[in-house]
Amino acid sequence: MTFQESPAGGSSSRPPTLNYDVEADWNLLYTCNFRCNYCFFPPKILGSKLQIHADPDGWARAFESTQRTWLLHITGGEPTIYPRFTELCARLSERHILSINSNLSHPAIEGLVDSVDPGRVHFINAALHVEERLKRGGLDLFVARVNQLRQAGFSVMASLVMTPERIADFTDFEEIFASHGLALHPKVLRGQHAGLVFPEAYSLGDRVLLRQYIARAAAYDAAGSHPMGEAATIDLFTEASLVDGPRDYTGQLCASGSRFVRIEPDGSVFRCGTTEPLGNLLDGTLSLLPSPRACNTNYCPYFCEKYTQPQFLQVRAE
Ligand code: SF4
Ligand code: SF4
Repeated sequence: MTFQESPAGGSSSRPPTLNYDVEADWNLLYTCNFRCNYCFFPPKILGSKLQIHADPDGWARAFESTQRTWLLHITGGEPTIYPRFTELCARLSERHILSINSNLSHPAIEGLVDSVDPGRVHFINAALHVEERLKRGGLDLFVARVNQLRQAGFSVMASLVMTPERIADFTDFEEIFASHGLALHPKVLRGQHAGLVFPEAYSLGDRVLLRQYIARAAAYDAAGSHPMGEAATIDLFTEASLVDGPRDYTGQLCASGSRFVRIEPDGSVFRCGTTEPLGNLLDGTLSLLPSPRACNTNYCPYFCEKYTQPQFLQVRAE
């Protein structure tokens, strides 16, 4: 994979090529300072005591011991509340490429500007969770942090989870973002909300509006569609494909387990949604699958779509 200068980028000195061997969906923690009512995780888990399983050097050593270059999608919970988050990103980005999923509520996100080369960060998914954001001082801080990161050269995509309430008032938020020169990408709601299961529970009218809003954001933000030359894994430009529900990948050949894994807060590694263990990064027992296998589980559709593509199904020489 070749990463190039992002049209949305700024002052970074990005390397002309940048390769990774394995991508990880890394749940650094499950604790979060927000309580979104559509969150995958219940309040008890979001409010659980933050567990630290390694410091920045410990995590860096663990990834280095694999002798692979990683694309680390750092998520949670809210990853920026992890102690020494900025230092963790700085340390990991020396050898690996990061992507970060954050609600931008913690000042640690600003630390990236001085500590991390934007050329080592594929993209930042800045998730605007409106109800929780409005309880904490409004949109201004969120917009200011998006702009601060973009001006520093990071590719930032602002997104909004589309509950039916947000579909109804989306244009209000879209206009606020446009007034700052920013796109706001609709994100299809998946899972439980208000006793209903989405996206199945969207009305026909909701679906029509959703598709319009998704297309409008993609057109507005077209220059940022391939940060560093490759679409972001959480590819908000293809969100329309999820409006009627994700595809079923059962039985399809997938590189998950060999080119992609899920990492848990304690360093344990799994293929994707499965409970089949692939070892633990922190105790040096990681053992990736040697080759792609048929899908026998389900997971986040962004990763499913990416790792069933032909370019990821070739067996890599070790
Ligand atoms: S910010 Fe994310 S992890 Fe936190 S409660 Fe909201 S959806 Fe859940
Ligand atoms: S659930 Fe998705 S990532 Fe996992 S094996 Fe199936 S297609 Fe691949």
